[in-house]
Amino acid sequence: MIALVTGASRGIGKAIALKLARMNFHVILNFHSNKEKAEDVQKEIASLGGSSELLQFDVADINEVTTALENWKDNNSDSVIQVLVNNAGVTSDGLMVFMERENWTKVIDTNLNGFFNVTAQLLKDMVISKYGRIINIVSISGLKGTAGQTNYSASKGGIIAATKALAQEIGKKKITVNAVAPGFIVSDMTEGLPEKELKKMVPVNRFGQPEEVAELVGFLASDKASYITGEVININGGLYS
Ligand code: NAP
Repeated sequence: MIALVTGASRGIGKAIALKLARMNFHVILNFHSNKEKAEDVQKEIASLGGSSELLQFDVADINEVTTALENWKDNNSDSVIQVLVNNAGVTSDGLMVFMERENWTKVIDTNLNGFFNVTAQLLKDMVISKYGRIINIVSISGLKGTAGQTNYSASKGGIIAATKALAQEIGKKKITVNAVAPGFIVSDMTEGLPEKELKKMVPVNRFGQPEEVAELVGFLASDKASYITGEVININGGLYS
């Protein structure tokens, strides 16, 4: 089976790609600009005896997404991407009172429109094949809202609502759509945060590891998760539920 992970060159996406490769998926590793890191992930998968390929595109750019995925389909006409992990995401934090429109647009274009751009490309083939798993990496911010992140919170909240709506549209076709909402996870995205202070707010008293998120995604991507759809699953050490 074939899985596409967007933003698979680093952090949570990398851990998910490795997990899916261990589960014997052929993994399409999408990345934006960090080719070297993406190649490292590909090498790591190969060293595990797994199978993967690189596919560069900017999820925010509908033309790039369409071209890359159409080309992939032309070159793999007998294959269907049946597992999609919409993981690529960015932040551009700041209080709304000072926020420039471009900080708003960048985050909405990448996170929310990126979800649409990629999912819309793959949905029809999943429907025809009558099987699919769509897993959207959202955030605690999309559930509770986070001060300093109105743009990011809106983008993730939008994906959560879309997850619930899409799950209802395509459940009959044996396609599940779920969202995974991490709290603080160690990655480049959280690198600048004061971890010592923030972890005091987390009941388990630490940040999570990307691999812990990947385990949950691996389960949702599996056959065993066929009766879970339209859900938002928190993974945040007890920070919020
Ligand atoms: P990260 O370490 O910053 O990695 C981001 C990944 O997304 C990279 O692979 C990057 O590719 C890719 N990416 C960024 N913009 C892209 C674009 N326009 N098109 C394609 N790929 C793009 O982030 P992370 O912490 O692993 O976060 C992964 C997901 O989890 C995000 O959706 C984030 O919002 C969510 N999340 C993270 C946390 C956390 O605490 N870390 C918490 C809640 C939710 P390049 O390497 O090529 O730049």
